[in-house]
Amino acid sequence: MTSPTLSDVLATARVVSLPLNTRFRGVEHREAVLLEGPEGWAEFSPFVEYDDAEASTWLAAAVDFAWRPQPAALRDSIPVNATMPAVAAERVPEVLARYDGCRTVKVKVAEPGQTLAEDVARVAAVRAAMGAVGRIRVDANGGWNVDEAEHAAHALAEFDLEYLEQPCATVAELAELRARLKRWDLPIAADESVRKAQDPIEVARSGAADLIVVKAQPLGGVRRALGIVAEAGLPAVVSSALDTSIGLAQGAALAAALPRLDFDCGLGTASLYAADVVREPLRARDGAVPVGRLTPDPDLLAQHAASAERTEWWIARVRRAWEASAL
Ligand SMILES: [Mg+2]
Repeated sequence: MTSPTLSDVLATARVVSLPLNTRFRGVEHREAVLLEGPEGWAEFSPFVEYDDAEASTWLAAAVDFAWRPQPAALRDSIPVNATMPAVAAERVPEVLARYDGCRTVKVKVAEPGQTLAEDVARVAAVRAAMGAVGRIRVDANGGWNVDEAEHAAHALAEFDLEYLEQPCATVAELAELRARLKRWDLPIAADESVRKAQDPIEVARSGAADLIVVKAQPLGGVRRALGIVAEAGLPAVVSSALDTSIGLAQGAALAAALPRLDFDCGLGTASLYAADVVREPLRARDGAVPVGRLTPDPDLLAQHAASAERTEWWIARVRRAWEASAL
């Protein structure tokens, strides 16, 4: 097997802009580059504010997925969670209605400009909708300091959380919070502390988390993510980065290859899209998504093609990410 050149990678690249149902991470459209290699289609969609060095890891993941055979799948479907953006509590039922049969909901909290009271109201609405058997985890994206996180953990305790995802930004803060919450039996999950860290294992070594969130694109692909999970020695949840269905299939390949999968995965986010690039978006059915490669529909690629200006921006970004990496 030979590695592709930059022109091989760009030869099939298509840039799309897909509308979202709900504003997420401050955007209403999600842009992505889709490319095809001998093994199939892959996605390159680092968030626009990420620098070239960070984007280069995402490009490595896309190239690996499109050009190399992937580790064997140990399961053919992946249970997924519903994702609740930082919406007002009264919109909770409408968002949950987009997910079929999900027993777990991840609720976004600590949104800039919002208050803890809004978080509590949103989580309460999710608990009311899911009933006692539903599993609820919250994701603060590092938005709290240790005191705020501890305060929030108290305020949210009555809703019986599965875990607290990236409550604080740094590994040191996570470790301190984990020590403070020890007797509460409220696990802490690390996400950004794994995927944006120079050293993705530090969080495990420091005892700063009970489990880790891993994502195929930011961690440089399925193989590399599997290696990080093995080295961390902690339970892992596979999640996506608001990928299109093509990127979600990449995440599902990672979840399918993990030796252990104890938690529902964050791969149901196709439901946040108002349109996608495949005829049958990778949405949860009966709480799970199937494992397998997907091929974009040519008409949908054309229909959702990004503007000439944005296409040029993304292609230039692929070139810079290529230069920044050792590919
Ligand atoms: Mg997260």
